[in-house]
Amino acid sequence: MKKVVIVTGSSKGIGAATIKYYANNNYNVVINYNHSLDDAQKLYDEVSKITDAILVQADISKEEDVKKLMDETIKAFGRIDTLVNNAGIAIDTTLEDKTVENFRRIIDVNLIGTFLTCKHIGTYMKEQGTGSIINISSTNGLDSYYPYSMDYDASKAGVISLSHNFALLYAPNVRVNTICPGWVNTEMNKELDDDYKKEECKHILLNRFAEPEEIAKTIYETDNNLYLNDSIIKVDGGRC
Ligand code: NAD
Repeated sequence: MKKVVIVTGSSKGIGAATIKYYANNNYNVVINYNHSLDDAQKLYDEVSKITDAILVQADISKEEDVKKLMDETIKAFGRIDTLVNNAGIAIDTTLEDKTVENFRRIIDVNLIGTFLTCKHIGTYMKEQGTGSIINISSTNGLDSYYPYSMDYDASKAGVISLSHNFALLYAPNVRVNTICPGWVNTEMNKELDDDYKKEECKHILLNRFAEPEEIAKTIYETDNNLYLNDSIIKVDGGRC
């Protein structure tokens, strides 16, 4: 029987690259999107040529939507082997422009969303007797902070803490690991100007941003290393 992966927020960026990576490795895939139906549909059209896929609209910050994502997956495939908590948002501003409303939205999506999927889909996996959860945090949640994204950084630090607690709760049958990418070439960074990027690259030993496929490969390999559990894996090209 083919394994099944759910990737949240997978219409583009790291999420879309992850869906393609798993599809190419013989998994059935669940593409989740919130608003980006066109991108999600294009991805579905591409991967459904090589594997079974479903598209599920769900805002992962909403509990009912998370339950729908889980129920539709079980209805289609009868099992869930891997959950990749990839959906995330950042709203970078000066301190003066930071609002409680935006701070709450970031926490709702990045942290509460991860909590809700880990709670419901993780419980399902525990009852199933097997499963693997990969939470996408960031080096911003570990050790490379940016005051412009202090709200995002706090949410990503929270994801690391959540991962430890869920790893403890679901052991030994469900493994929970965290990936912390550094800079990645995706839409999230599309507004960075070239000078800023060049300056940032000076602090990366490999002297470049990662491509989404490189993060997807780490997600897949972490998921499929059966002795990795409760680990935090940094993929940042070497910080200097
Ligand atoms: P992206 O903006 O291209 O993708 C984020 C995806 O999440 C989008 O498809 C978006 O529609 C989806 N999303 C947002 N809110 C959602 C919600 N409420 N419900 C469902 N989906 C939702 O960004 P990306 O760079 O591919 O980021 C993917 C993950 O990697 C994020 O968690 C991000 O924080 C993390 N990350 C990115 C970088 C980077 O430099 N790009 C670095 C470290 C960590």
